[in-house]
Amino acid sequence: MTTPTEEHPVTGNPLDDARSQLREAIDLLGLDEGMYELLAAPRREITVSIPLRRDDGSVEVITGHRVQHNYSRGPGKGGLRYAPDVDLDEVRALAMWMTWKCALLDVPYGGAKGGVAIDPRHYSAAELERVTRRYTSEIAPLIGPAHDIPAPDVGTDEQTMAWMMDTYSVNFGHTVLGVVTGKPISLGGSLGRASATSRGVVIVALQALAHVGLDPRAATAAVQGFGKVGRGAARFLADAGVTVRAVSDQYGGVQRADGLDVAALEAHVDATGSVVGFAGAEPIENADLLELDVDLLVPAAVEGVINGSNAERVRARLVVEGANGPTTAEADAVLAERGVVVVPDILANAGGVIVSYFEWVQANQAYWWTEDEVEGRLADRMTAAWRHVLAHSRSLDLTLRAAATSLAVKRVADAHLQRGLYP
Ligand code: GLU
Repeated sequence: MTTPTEEHPVTGNPLDDARSQLREAIDLLGLDEGMYELLAAPRREITVSIPLRRDDGSVEVITGHRVQHNYSRGPGKGGLRYAPDVDLDEVRALAMWMTWKCALLDVPYGGAKGGVAIDPRHYSAAELERVTRRYTSEIAPLIGPAHDIPAPDVGTDEQTMAWMMDTYSVNFGHTVLGVVTGKPISLGGSLGRASATSRGVVIVALQALAHVGLDPRAATAAVQGFGKVGRGAARFLADAGVTVRAVSDQYGGVQRADGLDVAALEAHVDATGSVVGFAGAEPIENADLLELDVDLLVPAAVEGVINGSNAERVRARLVVEGANGPTTAEADAVLAERGVVVVPDILANAGGVIVSYFEWVQANQAYWWTEDEVEGRLADRMTAAWRHVLAHSRSLDLTLRAAATSLAVKRVADAHLQRGLYP
């Protein structure tokens, strides 16, 4: 990985963390070394060069990846990330986590992930469209509704998905709505998809607060990240009566001991592009937000933010992982030792891929559900998965992460063994 910065504080390699979680699950399940090796490496990956003509006429070559970790249970599924320091190992880790997430929530997909090494803030919309279309063309032989279905992730959005769907469809000869999810509603997107990850995070956070004996109306929270996941999470937590004491984004953070007015903060972000400078709140550094004295911490930005250098100082009783991989394996052990309950990413942030699945089902059937239907089914699946993971962790005295990962790995291993090895 690149050098850690406040914005990208990863201190290790996320693939090492993903593999150490897999190793623990394999040992717990008593599976053999062959199964570990089969699941530790992706089934297929592609790295492409994306020549981009900049608006000033110059040409820049950008690197992109798509990794398909596993498809024993169905087509690959996972987001596409635009971030300056994205690399192949990070995409491999994120693809593996998607396999576990889909298996845990019993969504009939394997896991995949894409990454393009670009900082979208420094490119025009026209440049991003050209990058997206060229990347899609380069990976087109590997994606499709039955092969691998991309979705938004850090740095991409529904517009990115619209360009991908269009590029794939134009080359295919007809409109293929099921090739990506997270599309605009007007182009075959699902009602409830945009807020699904945040809703899922808060459904699980409220269950977890009850589990540790806290009433949401008496609980305090800090949310790191104010994008697709953190913003909705802050709003839904506030709606549930939780006092949201601090939030941050890539530019900085704000805090207010009595609780932030999240609706007013959202209006400020819409007007200025950042939480920074929100009236009636004090500034707070991203690093300090993670160590704030709150009941609930929701890291909803990037990997590795809770790591060996700060895990001892995390004061929250509960960490609910809105981001993928925000807690390193080293920090996980420290938090477990200190009795901090960590609700793992593959459970906590699974709402997005659940509603992606609903979007794909709707697109394939060309029949659209109401928002209430989508949200009801999302809540049912999140709650059932929470209960399943909690019961498993209690019966075997495991952390929630070890329980969730081992349940997921078992489902994938069973599917693999039932299919058999070909030839
Ligand atoms: N990028 C999201 C995730 O990490 C959503 C993936 C999807 O919907 O396929 O879960």
